Amino acid sequence: MKDKYSRRDFFKTGMGISLAAMLTGGKNLIRGEETAGRMRVVASGNGIRATEKAMELLREGKDPLDAVIAGVNIIENDPNDISVGYGGLPNEEGVVELDASVMHGPTHNGGAVASLRNIKNPSKVAKLVLERTDHALLVGKGALRFAKAHGFKEEKLLTDRSRKIWLRRKEMLSDRDFWYPPKSEELEPELQSYISTHGTINCIAINAKGDLAAVTTTSGFFYKIPGRVGDSPIIGAGLYVDNDVGAAGSTGRGEANILNCGSYQAVDFMRRGFSPEEACLRALERIAQKSKLLPRLLNKDGLPRFGLSFYAINKKGEYGGASLWSGRKFAVHDGKENKKKPLAYLYKRK
Ligand code: ASP
Repeated sequence: MKDKYSRRDFFKTGMGISLAAMLTGGKNLIRGEETAGRMRVVASGNGIRATEKAMELLREGKDPLDAVIAGVNIIENDPNDISVGYGGLPNEEGVVELDASVMHGPTHNGGAVASLRNIKNPSKVAKLVLERTDHALLVGKGALRFAKAHGFKEEKLLTDRSRKIWLRRKEMLSDRDFWYPPKSEELEPELQSYISTHGTINCIAINAKGDLAAVTTTSGFFYKIPGRVGDSPIIGAGLYVDNDVGAAGSTGRGEANILNCGSYQAVDFMRRGFSPEEACLRALERIAQKSKLLPRLLNKDGLPRFGLSFYAINKKGEYGGASLWSGRKFAVHDGKENKKKPLAYLYKRK
């Protein structure tokens, strides 16, 4: 059900800021001197260690792109996070395929890899696409060969835990095949809760000079069709940075985001003067509107039956995020403390 109270407030503030933006042409957001010293890092809820690390590097004066990549590498390397990198959940054939993109504000340059197998840090490979090629996106075998040419070692990414979750899903998928699920007393409850899971990490930073950068990295949808590419490596969808305005990134149902260029839209709303949180809400609202054209994506109340979240920082260092559904959090390092904060939302979960 829609949360009327939160929506009313959203429009109220939105209209006010919109008027201010019309009067000032949004220029109040992009005056360099206002940004000085405002180091900020935001990430999806699974990124609290990433925001900590990225802020540490920003404080050392490191480039914001290096900072966010070092941050998400912690999560990519962690087998306990089954939504990214090593230990990420595999495709329907039991193979882990990773997607990632990066974008660097000061040079307005980006790089990405998709359907990359056997390399646990796709975010690092995406950065090399940016730095060492004239391309923006490499996929599949070409991306793997490129990574190996740069000295990356192939590794087995499927952990035992992820393999078991995959096997359970395969066995439980249908009673019209030759795979039998285990008897109910043999089902591991911990594994069952992951059967329809997915996830990603997005991380965005602004340094003391007001330069922005972002990274998004994922193993994509669990049990996806091999070769499926989500929004994470698509610049404009999984992330977008305009160093004059702000940066945004996403997690959640990639297909809905790709079809609406969500991160680009969030940055564009910030360009028009909306706060990061309002910009994320407006991008989500457009996606929710368009989803109504696809009935299979709607629940019985006619609302999107999927999850999608955006995170954003503007040129002033203001940050915010929003989710389609209530109850989600994001990680924020505001230069003083690193903590999880609730995301704004369009619809309240019943
Ligand atoms: N956005 C990711 C994808 O579509 C999945 C997720 O964030 O849950 O691949």
